[in-house]
Amino acid sequence: MSATVYVGLGSNEGDREAQLVSALEAMSRIDAVAVLRCSSLFESAPVGPPQPHYLNAVVALECGLPPQRLLCILKQIERDLGRSPGGQRWGPRPIDLDILLWEGEVVADPNLQVPHLELHKRRFALEPLFELAPEAEHPVLGMTVAELLSQLAPQDVRRCEATQWPETLLPVTE
Ligand code: AMP
Repeated sequence: MSATVYVGLGSNEGDREAQLVSALEAMSRIDAVAVLRCSSLFESAPVGPPQPHYLNAVVALECGLPPQRLLCILKQIERDLGRSPGGQRWGPRPIDLDILLWEGEVVADPNLQVPHLELHKRRFALEPLFELAPEAEHPVLGMTVAELLSQLAPQDVRRCEATQWPETLLPVTE
């Protein structure tokens, strides 16, 4: 059975936009996964130690895999794109892939929590997610993405122009 899944992408090391595009291409090649839509790009101030700003986006996937299997594949994509395991927590990274929301599912495993535990606090995840699914519901908090955003204080997150990332909100074509 397949579900709509929202994955957050972030990069703040190297050619940030190229890395987001590479991660998107890698996700589009996963068996039993189809990329449905992409948000715009957003630039955000880092959380944690001083480091360069992040480029962020969210993609909607149609996913026929279980959550743990998708997580495993996303971690492999991170490694393939140069992310070294065991790096500094909240430190700079060429790519970060997070499962933000899984339609109709709550996962509370030691290594995987869905919805992502920080989702409701992070504009850099909620703003691109809002473009794709303003009415999607956070199954634990019982609020929509639009409601979560409206209760969040301003943060340093701004939409920015893409040069390589697919056109705003268009479905991805191979
Ligand atoms: P990060 O530093 O953001 O790459 O996250 C490190 C760890 O968070 C990963 O190794 C995952 O096991 C764990 N994790 C827990 N929940 C999630 C989630 N929803 N999406 C991605 N990683 C998660």
